[in-house]
Parts: sequence; C-alpha cells; structure tokens
Amino acid sequence: MNVSRAALPAMALTALALASLAPACGDDGGGGAQTADVGYLDVPDNVDGPPSDFGAADMVTAAKYGRIQVEIDQMTGKGPASQALTDLEAALDAMIADGHLDKPGGVDFVTDETLPTSGGVVHTFAELDTVGRAYRNLAVPAGSASIHVLYVDGSYEDDSGSSRVLGFAYGGSFMVMFKDSITSGCASSSVLALFPLIRDRICARVEATVFLHELGHLFGLVNNGTPMVDDHQDDAHGAHDVDPDCLMYWQIDGTKAVDIVGQRFQGGGEPDLGFCPASLADLDAAIARTR
Ligand SMILES: [Zn+2]
Repeated sequence: MNVSRAALPAMALTALALASLAPACGDDGGGGAQTADVGYLDVPDNVDGPPSDFGAADMVTAAKYGRIQVEIDQMTGKGPASQALTDLEAALDAMIADGHLDKPGGVDFVTDETLPTSGGVVHTFAELDTVGRAYRNLAVPAGSASIHVLYVDGSYEDDSGSSRVLGFAYGGSFMVMFKDSITSGCASSSVLALFPLIRDRICARVEATVFLHELGHLFGLVNNGTPMVDDHQDDAHGAHDVDPDCLMYWQIDGTKAVDIVGQRFQGGGEPDLGFCPASLADLDAAIARTR
C-alpha cells in the first residue's frame, strides 16, 4: 500500500510551499497533544483524535476502505456553499458509477464544527495545520477513510497581489479552503461580470472545482502517490497536469480558476465537473492493481 509519506502533499504554490510541508508529514497518528495558541484561538487538545494517516491508494481503491468520510469544519460564516457540495457529490457519484473511484460505500460530506472567525488574518501553513489537526475529531466508522477540510476566512501567506490561493491539500488527508478568497475572486472577475444573473451559480462551481482539484491531490494526482499511466505531469508546477483544460491544471489552486471556470459557462448550459482522461486512466490503473 502507498502510505501518505510517499504521497507527498500537494500544495498550491510549489517549492516555497513544499518546503514548509515537513511538519505536515509528521506522523502523530491523529493523536498527540495539540494545545497551542494561534492568536485568534486557543486550540483544543485532541489527544484521542481519529486516524489521519491515509494515502492515495486508501482514497482511490477499496482495498482497505470502501467509503470516504469528509469532515468539514468552518470558521463562522465561511463554510461551503450548498450548491458547491451538491456539485461535488454529483461529480463523485459519477466517478464511482463509472468505476474511476472504488468507493462502493460512497463519499459522505459531514459539516461539523463552526470555529470563531480569525478576524481575517493572513494564515500561515503551520497555524492552519495546527487548527486542522486539533479540530479533526469526528469519529470515523470502520471501513472508512477520512479527509479533513478546514474552511477559513482571511488570506494565505503565499498570496501575492491579486493572485490568491483558493485551496490546498497536504499530508495525505488534509485540505484547506479559503472562502474569502473564493468570494473576492468571484466578485472581481471580469469573466463572471459577463454573467450577472448566474454569477452565484458559477462561483459555487468555482468552489466545487477547487475542492475537487484538491481531492484530486489526495487521490494521488498528478504523480502524487498514484503512478501515471502516460506522462501528463507539468514538471514546472509539481503535482499538476500539463493540459490547461484539465481539472488538475496548476492554476485551479488559485484566483485564475474563477476565470477558467467562468469561461466554461460561455457556451450556455452547465459544463461538466470532473477529471481529464489522463487522470482517470491513472485512477483506473490504481484500482485495477487491487483486483
Ligand atoms: Zn493543485
């Protein structure tokens, strides 16, 4: 089995971010004292937290886990749009039905705790990792892998100018989503300004797109723990696809994702949400190896 340490965390902004990832790879097995003060929050103890040591194969195949539970904790007022979760569930259900994700028990999203606002700080990786691990406390049923998603306000230390990080995944089973950056990216997008009547709809799809992209990293894409069938990795941008039309393209981690997704609505109707054939082939091969 591929274990998470081999499946290096995928981050939005490559080398700088990757350098800061070492702490996330620490194996505390979900336990360990977590007491810390991150400035806006006294982080609770989480000594008996559920396991977090999952790898790409655990997420993609049914060899060990036939189901995924996604625990979402959110800062006040910064949780996922319900339409975004609806879009995500449909995309994942389709993957399961088509055999690209071997989770007969499904992928279930649980909106769990609400944390106080940070007041809109510039978040650091170390602080978000501390908070995420502390609030990862939802019991995980036998037979389930789990993913923890922290929805936060504010911005991120790797943001630069108008280019902001919308989400990232790391540590095999952790994600962070930046709700304020998604909202501001949608509000300032010249592409979305062309669609005033469906702007909220498109923004929900942007959120779902970023979320699924980050899940893709936890599924081991691209070359992030799930081996590639054909080489489609963008070597300059880490665990991403060379094809700008693919969900795993590097710009989907950041503000540019808003325009990319908005442009897909230009033809009218609803564009598909899902992975490119090269990514699906990688997932299919991982599943086939377990059968
Ligand atoms: Zn990415």
